[in-house]
Amino acid sequence: MNPFPSTTEILVIGSGYAGLSAAIEAHRAHARVLVVEKMAAPGGNSIISDGGIAAVNTEEQRVQGISDSVELMIADMRRAAQYRSDPKLVKLVCEHSREVYEWTKTEFKIRYRSRVEIFGGHSVARCYTPESVKGVDLLLSMVRKCDELGIKIIRKCTVTQIVLHQDEIVSVIVDYDGRNHEIAVAKALIVAAGGYGADIAFRERYDARLDETVSTTNKASADASLLRECMRIGAQLIDLDCIQCGPWASIDEKGFGLGPLFGDYVVFPYGILISRRTSRRFVNELADRKIISDEMFRQKEWVIGLADQQGMDTGNWDLSRAIERNIVRRFDSLEDIAHTYELNVRVFLEEIEKYNRFFENDSDLDFDKPLTQDMHPILCSPFYVMRMWPKVHTTLGGLKIDEQARVLNIHDQPIKKLFAAGEITGGIHGASRLGSCAITECLVFGRIAGRNAAK
Ligand SMILES: Cc1cc2nc3c(=O)[nH]c(=O)nc-3n(C[C@H](O)[C@H](O)[C@H](O)COP(=O)(O)OP(=O)(O)OC[C@H]3O[C@@H](n4cnc5c(N)ncnc54)[C@H](O)[C@@H]3O)c2cc1C
Repeated sequence: MNPFPSTTEILVIGSGYAGLSAAIEAHRAHARVLVVEKMAAPGGNSIISDGGIAAVNTEEQRVQGISDSVELMIADMRRAAQYRSDPKLVKLVCEHSREVYEWTKTEFKIRYRSRVEIFGGHSVARCYTPESVKGVDLLLSMVRKCDELGIKIIRKCTVTQIVLHQDEIVSVIVDYDGRNHEIAVAKALIVAAGGYGADIAFRERYDARLDETVSTTNKASADASLLRECMRIGAQLIDLDCIQCGPWASIDEKGFGLGPLFGDYVVFPYGILISRRTSRRFVNELADRKIISDEMFRQKEWVIGLADQQGMDTGNWDLSRAIERNIVRRFDSLEDIAHTYELNVRVFLEEIEKYNRFFENDSDLDFDKPLTQDMHPILCSPFYVMRMWPKVHTTLGGLKIDEQARVLNIHDQPIKKLFAAGEITGGIHGASRLGSCAITECLVFGRIAGRNAAK
């Protein structure tokens, strides 16, 4: 027997942050909502995320004396995007960032670490990390909320076709239990099917560097099949070449793994990156992800991420598992590091001395890394090293939407009854997404899509 009705007012495709935000808001606006999810477990990439979220003008920033504004966050996101984003959509994300951050705390009971983090490309600290450093808590709390509200999430149910009649969506065909079924959609279809980071053939078409030799942090479910279906019915796709790689990844483990905690939270702010070709630094370690990844690809082989004990202490993360598994290795001296990784000892030591001297005037004369008060020279043994290489992390292009989360056709007109939110959309992050801004975006646009679809 089918577990789903033959008709629903609103059908949401995908059970990540975007889909579940949309479903909850549509339900609150009194619509009958059904969520379908192709995998056996809900959550897509959302459930494996770190759960880091960016927001401006928060109480935490006020207490810590961090001066921020919506305008500054917009400027940061637009600059990283290399201005390939829609300013109206970015404005909505930033304006509603505090509201969705508070929503995760009040509605879904997420508790965050008190320290406000800064990641490359943000001008000020505005990123909040859950105490667990895991996105699973928020996702499961959203699933429980759906249960509580009576919103059904049907798993192992793949939308294979969107059916139109006279340019209007009337139903979808789903594959469930090996058979095709039709679900009529009375009011609206919300597409929240995530990105295509694990779809090697599709991503390689838009960025030839990202072939099978480049690994990904994504789940296998992150493919372009629904995007193609939207394309078939006339949706406009933008920025498909904007594929973000995570430069904080370790080459010594699969998937996201344990390394990014060291790479992103310790090496980039408190340490340095060293090229094995030159034994020197090659980039501002606090640049945005695209700049660092592109520079890493130019090195042609893995690079070294290095921090000292003081950096580890300031970062204050539990990296014991990464050390136990040799993802992060400990060394007593810089010379040991040079020998182990076949660096030119003299050049490498000179480079570190030079970096340390930059702290005398708090100015990185080579790469303009912002040297803030909590950063310091690399002096204190032991030293910690990770072999680093980018992994495909988020896809930033996709369906073109407007401020109401309506999907636009190639004439920039809304396709009737079709809405989208989350990683399947484009226009918000452009060339490069700043850390923690994806979750903000999924929640903001998920809610916008849900409310407008229910109207
Ligand atoms: C390891 C990792 C860590 C991350 N950490 C952070 C972070 O800390 N902060 C941050 O801002 N961002 C982070 N990101 C990025 C962020 O998590 C994602 O961009 C975001 O969760 C995407 O949410 P979504 O709802 O759009 O898609 P997803 O969460 O991927 O959900 C889409 C769902 O749609 C389903 N689906 C697809 N096609 C169909 C179909 N045809 N029929 C039915 N179902 C379908 C998929 O199975 C999937 O479950 C991280 C990403 C990864 C991979």
